[in-house]
Amino acid sequence: MDDKTYNAQKRRLRGLGKKWFKCLGLGWWKVDIEYDRDGKSFTVKEPAFGIDQFQIARVHVDWEYSQANVIWNIPAVRGRADRQLEEDFLHESAHILIREMREWANHRKAEDAVRHEERVVTALANAFRWIWLEATEVAERSRKRRRHKK
Ligand SMILES: [Zn+2]
Repeated sequence: MDDKTYNAQKRRLRGLGKKWFKCLGLGWWKVDIEYDRDGKSFTVKEPAFGIDQFQIARVHVDWEYSQANVIWNIPAVRGRADRQLEEDFLHESAHILIREMREWANHRKAEDAVRHEERVVTALANAFRWIWLEATEVAERSRKRRRHKK
């Protein structure tokens, strides 16, 4: 991947961070973002959860310190349309918010706990997007109303 393409993918992710981190309450977390340029660290299967090389990001959360680390698989990011990438971004961010709940899983049931976590973060990611769309619509209507009054 050439520098131009790589930097463009990093910019897309930074733009999503600017748009979303504070809204999601992650502004006071310490979230380190890493970019795996060739996606090589994503080729190893993660046996416990059956996650494969097409995973778009890996999230490590030290929730007790409000710290997280997100590693993005840049070749996978490149293959995502903007809207899909935003959904992925919200999904991974939601993992940061609720990861601590995984601690309650009985170790034999850890895989089930992850499946529940996946469902919850997917629902949250959708809710965040819908709220954003609704808020944008309300703001637009109010702007039109004000313009009309002048
Ligand atoms: Zn997930």
